[in-house]
Amino acid sequence: MSGRVKLGIIGCGIAANDLHWPALKNLSDCFEIVEVCNRSPAKALSFAKLIGSSTGKEPACSTDYQNILANPEIAAVNIALPVELNAPVIRDSLRAGKHVICEKPLAENLNSAAALLDLEKNFPHQVAMVAENVRYRRFIGRIKELIANGSIGRPYLVQWRHLTKIEDDNKYAQTSWRKNHVYQGGFITDAGVHDVAALHDLLGPLELLSSFSDCVNPAIGSTDCMMCHFVSQSGLHGSLSLGFSVVAHEQNQLIILGSAGTLTFEHNLLTLKKADDSIHEEDLSDDWGFEAEFRDFYQAITQGKKPHSTFAKAYADLAFILACTVN
Ligand code: NAP
Repeated sequence: MSGRVKLGIIGCGIAANDLHWPALKNLSDCFEIVEVCNRSPAKALSFAKLIGSSTGKEPACSTDYQNILANPEIAAVNIALPVELNAPVIRDSLRAGKHVICEKPLAENLNSAAALLDLEKNFPHQVAMVAENVRYRRFIGRIKELIANGSIGRPYLVQWRHLTKIEDDNKYAQTSWRKNHVYQGGFITDAGVHDVAALHDLLGPLELLSSFSDCVNPAIGSTDCMMCHFVSQSGLHGSLSLGFSVVAHEQNQLIILGSAGTLTFEHNLLTLKKADDSIHEEDLSDDWGFEAEFRDFYQAITQGKKPHSTFAKAYADLAFILACTVN
């Protein structure tokens, strides 16, 4: 298969408008958005108009995703819905013969995610991937390169602190499906699963040794604070601290300590410090991986290759973060 892939978008909320569309706009050689769907018609219409104002061709609109699935012209769907709808919509989409890219986390709980892993085996000729954009960020590849070429010697400790304050009027916290969430783990799952995906890509499978989680501000969900201790298969120990109701302090910093140097990544800046006090800095700004993620989806469809962000990896990310929220 080659040429532009005809795409349907299911869910026209924040992710579709603010994160997916800017990437898809730059990939007009890969995708043609043929139809969009949203529960409330006004959001579907305004999203269709936004796309049409740029492409000159407004996609069709609907409020029922079955219309997209019944459209034989559409080869692939992009799912950006409340998390608890991922499983049924992925299932219906694969059964309708569509290639699927679905926002993270894979499902609302681990049983549901496991059922999707079983389901996808029945559709070996369709792409099934999770839109875990962090897997496509520049810092991941660069850190792996620096570790592999011995820049910091033997890595022995990893620390990630992701501390921020999600105000009650934050646009994500305002979505009703997050406020009254039925998916497990609240903000820790919704946002923290990205950090786990990055750690998995950097370090490989992780064994959870201990964890603590709590709810500081129930207005943003059941769990907004978490700390865990893990070990990688190569014996590297690490900790991940997540706080989404932190007062008067913000920090999103990854530190990797090695026998011959230290790597930090913060605000898109990668810093390598060596024993001779030399400091090397690299700006690794990117679009948070969205364009690369959709390009991977396109290449998986047109070249029949496995995408980088598979259901199996998303399952492992979800399993880890959910295990951290069980005390
Ligand atoms: P959102 O703004 O609430 O968007 C979800 C949309 O789905 C809403 O517009 C909602 O319409 C629509 N919807 C609900 N039920 C539907 C149905 N049965 N059929 C069609 N449309 C339906 O939430 P969001 O922030 O975009 O999050 C959506 C997904 O993206 C989640 O999986 C989230 O985890 C993910 N996300 C990822 C990132 C990232 O960095 N990768 C960032 C943000 C979100 P109504 O409002 O009319 O109900």
